[in-house]
Amino acid sequence: MKEIWDVAVIGGGPAGMMSAGRSAELGAKVILIEKNESLGKKLLITGGGRCNVTNAEFNTRALLEKFKENGKFLFSAFSQYSSKETLDFFNSKGMPTKIENEKRAFPESNSSTSVLNVLLSYMKEGGVEILTNSPVSSVNVDTSVILANARIHGSPIKSGMTKDNNADISNQNIISSITLENGKEIFAKNFILATGGKAYPKTGSTGDGFVWLKKLGHTIIKPDSALVPLNIKDEWAKELQGLALDNIKISIIQDDKKIEAKPGKILFTHFGVSGPTILNMSRKINELMPNGDVFISLDLLPKFDFSTLNTELQKIFKKHTNKIFKNAILDLIPSGLVPIIIKKSDIGGDTFCHSITRDERIKLMHVLKDIRMQIESLLSPENAIVSSGGVELKEVDFKTMQSKLFSNLYLTGDILNINRPSGGYSLQICWTTGFVAGTNASK
Ligand SMILES: Cc1cc2nc3c(=O)[nH]c(=O)nc-3n(C[C@H](O)[C@H](O)[C@H](O)COP(=O)(O)OP(=O)(O)OC[C@H]3O[C@@H](n4cnc5c(N)ncnc54)[C@H](O)[C@@H]3O)c2cc1C
Repeated sequence: MKEIWDVAVIGGGPAGMMSAGRSAELGAKVILIEKNESLGKKLLITGGGRCNVTNAEFNTRALLEKFKENGKFLFSAFSQYSSKETLDFFNSKGMPTKIENEKRAFPESNSSTSVLNVLLSYMKEGGVEILTNSPVSSVNVDTSVILANARIHGSPIKSGMTKDNNADISNQNIISSITLENGKEIFAKNFILATGGKAYPKTGSTGDGFVWLKKLGHTIIKPDSALVPLNIKDEWAKELQGLALDNIKISIIQDDKKIEAKPGKILFTHFGVSGPTILNMSRKINELMPNGDVFISLDLLPKFDFSTLNTELQKIFKKHTNKIFKNAILDLIPSGLVPIIIKKSDIGGDTFCHSITRDERIKLMHVLKDIRMQIESLLSPENAIVSSGGVELKEVDFKTMQSKLFSNLYLTGDILNINRPSGGYSLQICWTTGFVAGTNASK
């Protein structure tokens, strides 16, 4: 006799693990199928291995404002499970958390492994059956129901209609099974799709779910890079590899006009720049690139305006009057930046402070407040932290996370077309949609 699971979850990332654990907690017989040899490959690299597990904004409306126009779709799911519930969940399962700047929450251990371990034991407690090394190759529709619907609705059955042909689907339609690459078929009453988006495909998120959903009749907004680091043309920026600057202001410049400015931090890498502020600006930069050259300008000392910076520099040069410039300037900037400041300001590093002229000081002020680099390109989509695109939100019931086309199909996590900034918001979508889908699929 064929085995029929209550719930089959496809994809063992954060959304899949949360939904599987939740369904099992409510008593459902659950199987989770993952193509990699282990679960949570992407989860383990989140937040540089520290995992920014959520954003601790406990006012749901304020939290949803970060999702801009998508917020209105998300409200019914987030009113059931939001960042407070996430932190309570992990804390109650023995994972203390801490809140850092911009309300970013991390495990106290500073390790994403702690997050994965909580999810693994949550699923173990509920008796979730886990199949790894098991790529799913197709999602199969119950054609008998489609045929019955077609007759009820009086529409002629089109010739050549197959299980992949969605000509007559309505929300009466159901998924019958999934087939694994090894030919095994898995049957379940309900299916939760958690195969992720297309960012960082080496972790397993290769967009398989988009292909199946498109065949099933869902609208898929074309995936594109959303949060992505930047390649920089200027060689000096690459020479700063490894340097991180905090409390600076970053502006996007085009045609010598400031398009957008944000306080934040920047991380220099072997290809250019990254860090949360850069990632959050990357969408705007992507929009601007086709219109011409785009530059990033760094204000290294945003706390000073020109006049207070002038006074500050005069004080420093007076205090260190018999010292050389490259040592005195360390009062204001980290040592890693000194060579580039020397180069851009044209003040020799060994110049004594007492011999720095007014004009040199003015030029230095401009360098400190507007150090520019030209953007070469965005890194390839494979290197995006998050990809935009995915299932059209109008086709999902956010009270249950049920597909509006297939009554026993639930959609979670990165598979949904939800643009969001960096700051723990992506994983919160996984916890919320996973919890809501898991709850409803278990009924
Ligand atoms: C470098 C990096 C850092 C990040 N840092 C953060 C952060 O600190 N905070 C934050 O909120 N977000 C962060 N994100 C985003 C976050 O990781 C994702 O939003 C999240 O992992 C999405 O979870 P998911 O479960 O929807 O999909 P995924 O994590 O992509 O998991 C999908 C799973 O489905 C499996 N799968 C796919 N196809 C099949 C198939 N055919 N058969 C079986 N299994 C399949 C995959 O192997 C994968 O395991 C980061 C992303 C990256 C790349």
